[in-house]
Amino acid sequence: MTVSSPLISVVAPVFNEGAGVERFVGRLTEVLAGAGLSHELVLVDDGSTDDSWDYVVEQAMLDERVRGLQLSRNFGKEAAVLAGLEHAAGDAVIVIDSDLQHPPEVIPEMVRRWREGAQVVEAVKRNRTGQGVVGRLGGRMFNKAFTGLTQVDLIDATDFRLLSRPALEALLRLPEHSSFFRGTSSWIGFRRSAIEIDIEHRAGGRSRWTFGSLFRLAVNGLTSFTSAPLHLVTMVGLAFAAFAVLLGAQTLIRWIGGDSVAGFPTVILLLLVMGTFLLLGLGVIGEYLARIHEEVRGRPRYLVQEKSGRVADTTVPEQWARARR
Ligand code: UDP
Ligand code: MG
Repeated sequence: MTVSSPLISVVAPVFNEGAGVERFVGRLTEVLAGAGLSHELVLVDDGSTDDSWDYVVEQAMLDERVRGLQLSRNFGKEAAVLAGLEHAAGDAVIVIDSDLQHPPEVIPEMVRRWREGAQVVEAVKRNRTGQGVVGRLGGRMFNKAFTGLTQVDLIDATDFRLLSRPALEALLRLPEHSSFFRGTSSWIGFRRSAIEIDIEHRAGGRSRWTFGSLFRLAVNGLTSFTSAPLHLVTMVGLAFAAFAVLLGAQTLIRWIGGDSVAGFPTVILLLLVMGTFLLLGLGVIGEYLARIHEEVRGRPRYLVQEKSGRVADTTVPEQWARARR
């Protein structure tokens, strides 16, 4: 590979996008060919239940730069992205959604910034189409809290980003089971650059995020980046201890003085407050315990069922080495 024509790998997770795959490949190829970039496209089918994989295979047959990777079941977007990254051969790798919400037209500019020396080029949302008011507000609040707790800036960040080979190698060295691409690709550091983009409406189908899966993502993101919630439990516990001393002293003094507090409401209130806090505290500890359990089990983060086209297999030995550790 010469320096003058570096290979750009484009990684896109596909989950039940159906005919959208064809649309996506068409528009992407048009943009990349128009900019005169030599590229490969790694489509990762994340266990789609529709005919997405057939479309991927078809595209791989029509164009030898398209490679397909089918996971054995739905492992979630994070795992699908990781699978794509581990099978990308390019000098720079671009991760993009296959639902065309990330405008491929930005790619030439990303590549230009990379050539100018940036190691990570991230696309930042200027607007948030396709999200309701509640989703937008929720997203904002989560982002704010997350940034505050983890020092990883997620505000308006997207998964649409370019990583240079060194940055990618660094990212793939992180051993976490439940990786959180947006967070880890910020955590690694490296020389960065940002481009503002307008998120487009979905070209077809609909968003796969449910309240449940968003909640999981939030919990995963938090627990993998900070132990602040654990400290919070300790802090609240201390606050309760101080409160207990004061209230205890007051109750005793009044009891000695022969005038005790009306008992029942106080007891109920205390029970409710304590019960809630105890359960929440246990829950927080449980989340971290679950993470440890998952990491210790060390199962592979995804399984490949089938490949289509010439898929690079650059990092598999490393992955096995990691699993054995
Ligand atoms: N996706 C995936 N696995 C999943 C859910 C989604 O690979 O379990 C892919 C999907 O095909 C799309 C991208 O992840 O390319 C973003 O998904 P979606 O549009 O549902 O999320 P949103 O854009 O609303 O964040
Ligand atoms: Mg989308």
